[in-house]
Amino acid sequence: MVKDEKFFSNCLRMQITNDDLSDERIDELVEHCVKYRFDNVMLMINAEEFNVGHISVEEAKPWVEVLKKAKVKLEEAGISVSVNNWIEIGHLDRGRKLKPDQAFNTMVDFNGKKSEFVACPLDKEWLKYFTEYARFLTEELKPEVFWIEDDFRLHNHDPLEWGGCFCEEHIKLFNKKLGKNYTREEFVKRAFKKGKPTIERKVWLDSSRETMNALAEELAKTITSACPQTEIGLMSSTPGAHCMEGRKWDKLLGIFSGGKSKINRIHLPGYFESSGKEYLLNFNSISMGVRAFCSDDTVVMPEMENGSATVYRKNEKFMKFELEAAAPLLVGGMTYSIYDFVGNGAVEGMGYGKVAKQIIPYLQAIKDLNLKFSDGKGVVVPVDEEVCYRKEINDFYDLGTNQFYPAAYLSGLGINYKYSTSKKFENKTVALFADGVYNFSNEELKELFANNRVIIDGKAVRILFERGLGNLLGIERIRPREAEIDVQSYEQAVKGEIYGIKRFRTTCRYDAGDFVDITYSEGSEKEVLTEIYDFYGKKMALGTVRTKNALVIPFEFTRHILAQFSELKRVILSDFVFERGDEILSTETAGISPYLFEGNGFEVLMKINSTLEDLEEITIRINGEISEIKAIAKDGKIEPVDFKKSGDRLIIRRKAGFYSSETFIIKR
Ligand SMILES: [Zn+2]
Repeated sequence: MVKDEKFFSNCLRMQITNDDLSDERIDELVEHCVKYRFDNVMLMINAEEFNVGHISVEEAKPWVEVLKKAKVKLEEAGISVSVNNWIEIGHLDRGRKLKPDQAFNTMVDFNGKKSEFVACPLDKEWLKYFTEYARFLTEELKPEVFWIEDDFRLHNHDPLEWGGCFCEEHIKLFNKKLGKNYTREEFVKRAFKKGKPTIERKVWLDSSRETMNALAEELAKTITSACPQTEIGLMSSTPGAHCMEGRKWDKLLGIFSGGKSKINRIHLPGYFESSGKEYLLNFNSISMGVRAFCSDDTVVMPEMENGSATVYRKNEKFMKFELEAAAPLLVGGMTYSIYDFVGNGAVEGMGYGKVAKQIIPYLQAIKDLNLKFSDGKGVVVPVDEEVCYRKEINDFYDLGTNQFYPAAYLSGLGINYKYSTSKKFENKTVALFADGVYNFSNEELKELFANNRVIIDGKAVRILFERGLGNLLGIERIRPREAEIDVQSYEQAVKGEIYGIKRFRTTCRYDAGDFVDITYSEGSEKEVLTEIYDFYGKKMALGTVRTKNALVIPFEFTRHILAQFSELKRVILSDFVFERGDEILSTETAGISPYLFEGNGFEVLMKINSTLEDLEEITIRINGEISEIKAIAKDGKIEPVDFKKSGDRLIIRRKAGFYSSETFIIKR
């Protein structure tokens, strides 16, 4: 970035309204930034409550004058300035309409419903307007970063259906590629036909990708020519939604960067305060999922989201938790939507400034370790940006992928994971769940099973079986059993004790998901760990089974199925993954998530406590000898810590409060 990339950067997003209070707001903002060490302000324009639709240059001029005043005062105080127009094509209609002189072609959904406001990104009229406007903003403000808002997408444009543009221009484009003359209805029927992918679906995904990449090229060209020093940052949404528009992350970020920094404002999934566990579940499947598709050199500046209009919605303790929990993304800085955009300015009384300042030394010290995201360790969770090109679907909405869920599942049960876009692994433990199977060819799957240990769910078993690969697990036949339709009632351990309880049980009710009743071939090597019973207590199927090189959990992880976060599964999974070398560890506590990275001559262990328990000390199951452990304190100091390793149990004698993260530097 323009500034020294070595330094962790705290950026405050702020709208200053054009009114008689603007001078006062600017002075308060400068004071707030100095006091709480925000080194950059992302000046918002045309934002939220003051969004006037596709704002004209004339309408923007008086607002830009206010921003220029703010820029002078902020820069005098040593604070740099970026700019963030609230919209590109527009998020949602929200009562806004095109202005009388705006003859833009707007987006159309697969039913033919037309937006009254959101522009089709192919539209030349809109592009002419927006590039002129972006040029004006850039020339006037010469921002450090020009931020592209997350409406740079083809989905989530309510009141339209979830995704894609099917306007006349787009239908023409699809037809041109196909050499056909389909109507919208004919095209949609083919593109989202139940079953295997069609050529129409491929054309739709390709076209979506090309539409957005071409727009990125135009925006990058405009902004760079208006101010060559200005960099471009991208705000992003959920990874599954971007898979549905064929996004290639590194390509797109590369277009925006023009050889400078690739900057990604990754969504932190907490508009409001929820529970720590719920937050971490989404963090692992959303924020970490996006990170998995970006190259190591991407500057990640996640966004503390903007539901913080009142302290009822987000307490400062929860904000602190989100900031500490962002550490495994290996962040270069943070962006803050902590004060709403209604024009109150920086509201010191909410206490958020203090939290944003306090986190800097901790995240800076982690940044100083120069870790690479690709050097993460743990159970491999394979993901692919192109899963929607291969997935078998029931309908359009079924394109939404569940490939990120196993990461959230394993992490929630206290096991470290690593997202990977590779197709080949050697001697690893791989979580092959549901859509994950579509990321591999049959040959790749054979290799995967031959060279690794695999944790597999019921949905993945079904897909493998349908592809004629049941023999990889020694499966002879399967029978799907639907939750709450079939009679499965509970799952029970065959042997051993959990919490001193024999035949430990867990529910098979709705929240456990559907399962597949698997019949293994006679003589196939297997150990039955659990069995499934009906509500009369009669055994009806095998449950979790170990085969020669796999752990088969027969439930279908097509959504977050909360009953599978059971102690029964936690113990079984922990025992299974732990047999694999020293890359995998377990906190043995649901809600305490570990992350492990290989550093330069050391390893780094991050541990996030999303429970409400204060821990007196930290227990971790980990293989191998350990010679030294140091902790990164919240003030950024690196301190030796007392620990005891006895067998595979590591006890770190350090308190770990609820809703907090700890980072340790470990030498073997
Ligand atoms: Zn269109």
